[in-house]
Amino acid sequence: MKSNFKFTNIKNTKEKDCRDYRQLITPFLNGKLSFERNGELLGHVDTCENCYDELRTTYMVMEGLKRLESGEAFNLGDDFGKVMRDARADYENIRLARKVMSTALFSVIIFTFVILMAGLFV
Ligand SMILES: [Zn+2]
Repeated sequence: MKSNFKFTNIKNTKEKDCRDYRQLITPFLNGKLSFERNGELLGHVDTCENCYDELRTTYMVMEGLKRLESGEAFNLGDDFGKVMRDARADYENIRLARKVMSTALFSVIIFTFVILMAGLFV
């Protein structure tokens, strides 16, 4: 049936996307993702419960193993919430800093242009 075929296609596309995002989870938790990739993953887990769960589970396993070795007491549920808040805050800070930088750069270009033009007419 035609409609079933379409549905399968959409489903496959979605699963492929999630697979792509899941490959980002470990680098994300290790702080190895680029700014853009961080944003993509944070955006995706906002809307995809499955990947959010995957991210939380991976965090629990990674962090739990580390702390078992060090013998630290832990409450991983709370810590995960903090990790996500920090990651979002970092992403926002960098995004804003970039915006400010690009505005500043644009101003410098305009300023230089005005100086150059003024120089032509002196
Ligand atoms: Zn997903």
